Amino acid sequence: ADVQVRVHEMLPARVLVGPGAVRLVGGEVERLGARRALLVATPSASAPAGEIAGDLGPRLAARFDRPAPHTPVAVTAEAMAVVEEASADCVVAIGGGSAIGLAKAVSARTGMPQVAVPTTYAGSEMTPVLGETEDGVKTTRRDPALAPGTVVYDPALTLGMPRGLTRTSAMNALAHAVEALWAPDATMVSDALATESVTGILAALPEVLDDPSGTEARARLQSAAWLAGICLARTRMGLHHQLAHVLGGAFDLPHAELHTMLLAHVMAFNLPAAPAAASRLSRITGTGDPAAMVAELARAYEGPTRLSELGVPRAGLPGVAERVAAAPYPNPRPPTAAEVQDLLEAAW
Ligand code: NAD
Repeated sequence: ADVQVRVHEMLPARVLVGPGAVRLVGGEVERLGARRALLVATPSASAPAGEIAGDLGPRLAARFDRPAPHTPVAVTAEAMAVVEEASADCVVAIGGGSAIGLAKAVSARTGMPQVAVPTTYAGSEMTPVLGETEDGVKTTRRDPALAPGTVVYDPALTLGMPRGLTRTSAMNALAHAVEALWAPDATMVSDALATESVTGILAALPEVLDDPSGTEARARLQSAAWLAGICLARTRMGLHHQLAHVLGGAFDLPHAELHTMLLAHVMAFNLPAAPAAASRLSRITGTGDPAAMVAELARAYEGPTRLSELGVPRAGLPGVAERVAAAPYPNPRPPTAAEVQDLLEAAW
């Protein structure tokens, strides 16, 4: 039926944002009434994780330093053994989406509250979604209880991101906002957030790439990515995320690089069928061809820019195309398997 009513729900998250916010994590754990925190950190965040550990003092029960991309269930099992051994009652995660995903997986199995301290722009901290992999298959679940109740955005944690990761992670965030603009369940709120997010990312990213240690532009980029994370949480993602999901799960690919190489191709495919999104993006970019602008940002990446360079076998593309075309997700231009394959060949 042609239902006109749309639902906009906000997740109740407490967000602390600004330089120095990381020093408030210990106080946030105390505020939750927790006494035995498990601290999950990626090696890239070992220095600030050490600071958090110091601030937690006796509230630190255990550490786990080996989160892996796409939340493999075997890694979660290792973390669960630590949780049980330490009788942890809350989980603090610092790092990219891999660390935050592991904290969600632990919380899903224990009900423990989470404090998320993101160091990339992936946006997982804003979502009630957990994707887990087992035997090359990624399964995703959605539950409001999975969203971290406390999120701490400290731009200082992003100053050391290399240029390459900065670009790909920002493109990952951009993809959330772009797909929100053509989502069937978009609302005035998600449109506003997505527009502000795309505007912020496209303005701040070049400044940050010019001067990666400039705190002010880093803070703007991080906040634009925060909005993109809300877009990801609030709207149903389309073809772009379906492609990233199936490819990433099947070939164990780096998440942000994959988003970077796909986004412009999906925009070129979808925008002719998504006039409202196209006109917003044209206004933001000041060009009639926003996909070309995004393609240029992706092409300038110093790392791999094609699926072939990530080791995806060409012979694997038809199978991916079949799965993506058959999967149930909304897209302004529902693709056939042949169209998906053409798109994949172009990205390959
Ligand atoms: P990641 O967490 O794997 O980090 C990528 C690499 O960057 C790692 O080597 C990490 O150590 C390093 N790194 C992280 N922050 C850094 C920093 N500030 N400086 C230097 N190096 C740094 O990758 P990601 O792109 O942040 O997240 C991707 C993962 O998150 C995927 O598994 C994806 O599926 C998941 N994700 C989930 C959701 C969701 O809503 N469930 C949303 C987005 C991403």
